[in-house]
Amino acid sequence: MNIKNSTNEHSAHLIEVFSAIQGEGLNVGTRQIFIRFALCDLRCHFCDSAHTWKTPKVCRIEHNPGLRDFETYSNPVPLERLLKWVEQQNAPFIHDSISLTGGEPLIHAPFLIQFLPQVRTLTKLPIYLETGGHLPRQLSQVIPYLDLVGMDVKLPSVSGENHWHEHITFLQLCYQSNLDVFVKIIVSENTELADLRKAGELVGTVSTDIPVFLQPVTPLDTPTGSITQATIIPPTPDQVLGWQTLMKEFVKQVRVVPQTHKMLNQL
Ligand code: SF4
Repeated sequence: MNIKNSTNEHSAHLIEVFSAIQGEGLNVGTRQIFIRFALCDLRCHFCDSAHTWKTPKVCRIEHNPGLRDFETYSNPVPLERLLKWVEQQNAPFIHDSISLTGGEPLIHAPFLIQFLPQVRTLTKLPIYLETGGHLPRQLSQVIPYLDLVGMDVKLPSVSGENHWHEHITFLQLCYQSNLDVFVKIIVSENTELADLRKAGELVGTVSTDIPVFLQPVTPLDTPTGSITQATIIPPTPDQVLGWQTLMKEFVKQVRVVPQTHKMLNQL
């Protein structure tokens, strides 16, 4: 994987652009234009987007919003072409915001610095960033162009990733910039209480007003790599009740919400 050579300020490697209902976090249920970027530098055990890890030769672009009439185009995509596609998606004025998702969108920071001010002017839509919450340097470059950030705090016992230091710097940056931000924590049957407590302390240290979403893991259809199905078993009802109680020691708002777009059979 050569992430450095796959990104620049004029073009980006994409997976897809489409219109759908947001299934997670603070924007749940709203209609968004999704721009899914290729590449991720993490390897979470529960990842349902492993197809984004590599740079694909082509991306798929929905022609009419919500109709799933995809056409394929070569990667990388020039900035002007992406602007045109987003404008085409936004034509009926049905969207609440634009979602930057992936993969890890912040890998494309040089591109986003150029793209975001233009797409904001063009659509007048708020920009929502979905991120692993581990690239604070890249966040600081694009933060002026964002309206809402949904950042993950990765529990090592669930994700296999460990980014506590980056997470706190990242969250502090969001909070100090007066950006709307919420934290998403994927929980599974394997969640260790020490991890959850550490996550609660981390968020509460920045602000007790930052909403936290505990998201029970969605079982994958097929295991990814060497990960066995046993590592991605959702928590029991008793576990999530206990964990919500625990997290309320640190922050005021703790919501337990599964991936609703999967329930609705959305993308
Ligand atoms: S950060 Fe997201 S896209 Fe990257 S491996 Fe983790 S779940 Fe998958």
